[in-house]
Amino acid sequence: MRYLLLLPLLLSAFLTFAQSDNSATVLKQLDAQTDHYGDIAHQIWELAELGYKEEQSSLLLQAELKQAGFTIEAGVADIPTAFVASYGSGKPVIGLLAEYDALPGVSQAAVPEKKNREGSQAGHACGHHLFGTASAASAIALKEWLMSSGRSGTVRLYGTPAEEGGAGKVYMVRAGLFDDVDAVLNWHPSDKNGADASSTLANKSAKFRFYGIASHAAAAPQFGRSALDGVEAMNHMVNMMREHVPETTRIHYVITSGGEAPNVVPAFAEVFYYVRHPQMREVKNIFNRVVKAAEGAALGTGTTMDFEVIHGSFNLLPNETLTRVVHKHLETVGGVTYTAEEEAFAKKISATLPEAKQTDLSAAQEVQPFSAPEKPYSASTDVGDVSWAVPTTALRTATWVPGTSPHSWQAVAAGGTSIGTKGMMVAAKTMTLTGIEFFQNPELLAKAKAELDRRRGADFKYEALLGDRKPPLDYRD
Ligand SMILES: [Zn+2]
Ligand SMILES: [Zn+2]
Repeated sequence: MRYLLLLPLLLSAFLTFAQSDNSATVLKQLDAQTDHYGDIAHQIWELAELGYKEEQSSLLLQAELKQAGFTIEAGVADIPTAFVASYGSGKPVIGLLAEYDALPGVSQAAVPEKKNREGSQAGHACGHHLFGTASAASAIALKEWLMSSGRSGTVRLYGTPAEEGGAGKVYMVRAGLFDDVDAVLNWHPSDKNGADASSTLANKSAKFRFYGIASHAAAAPQFGRSALDGVEAMNHMVNMMREHVPETTRIHYVITSGGEAPNVVPAFAEVFYYVRHPQMREVKNIFNRVVKAAEGAALGTGTTMDFEVIHGSFNLLPNETLTRVVHKHLETVGGVTYTAEEEAFAKKISATLPEAKQTDLSAAQEVQPFSAPEKPYSASTDVGDVSWAVPTTALRTATWVPGTSPHSWQAVAAGGTSIGTKGMMVAAKTMTLTGIEFFQNPELLAKAKAELDRRRGADFKYEALLGDRKPPLDYRD
């Protein structure tokens, strides 16, 4: 009888052991797939497909997930290259984000000097080929863990196109695809390994189009109305407005059309604006004031104006509860150690960086201490909208040589080598260990949700900054 009473205890001890053993097995399997995933990432690197045109990259990842037993729903949120891959059933639902769009104008071979890659104008200068592949690899590893542990739960991989200016995730959030998700994991390629509870800037952009009346600029200017005047008057007003907006605002513009010839009064002109601020609500306000400036400019110059919102993304809401867990597992996994060959490559890349950016290469091995900086990164991402819908966490890993900036040829180069693959596997392993803990710990997820509720405020109701516009599927034409 006494032994019988002991049985449940022994059983639970065995299960605990089996589970921790499971995660070690799953990690080992993941490690054994390094070459395979390195190859997938390299294929996407070579494809270097631009935002909303990532047909083959998206299909490659879908095929991997399908092969592993995931159900694929493609073309979600009216975006042909977006997809959702699911495995398992019931709660919790853990989501992973996968990006795979490249950038125009940064063609680069996988060599440590600036050299165009033949036959391509684009390049993976933000490392999204690694981003997508590591997330898919981790989703598959989490599926393996779910299977072998016999736990219930759903792992869902979101294939999210056009991060670079296309705001793909915003349309997916707007379509409600994240509504039942308990936590979202993602990562980003970097020159460092770290996980911090930091934020980004909210951002809203629009093209303001002015319509005037063409006329001979010397013989009959009195009959013309200059659309370019409209643009210049608007810019002047916005530039004065800079003094009367919160200090942390960023407003930038380019004139995308300013007329054709000086002797023709321009009948059409266009200016493309970005408005950024650490708070999404401030961006809304300031953007509306920019619209007023455009209206006033049209009125004063005798032109007419309309505008098209191009994209918009919320500031990133950090989740400290979840990110501390990511950081813990990142420390377990550790950073990137170079072989002699990789070290030689890294040294050559480092020598091409601005002197202030040439740092000790051993930084690739280190994991940065956890932090929760007050100041947001001066950049924007469409992960922002996801982070207001679901507790979201991320890490970054050293897929690039220390000192490398994103969107540089040096990032494309390292991302095309085994350095990129190693950094990617650090991310895949860390997300897998974190995901396993999410599945095992419902209290943790509840705490993360409470943190999200606190950060977004009681009156929060999601309304995309980009309004009801359709995905700009042709924005890279
Ligand atoms: Zn980028
Ligand atoms: Zn990026």
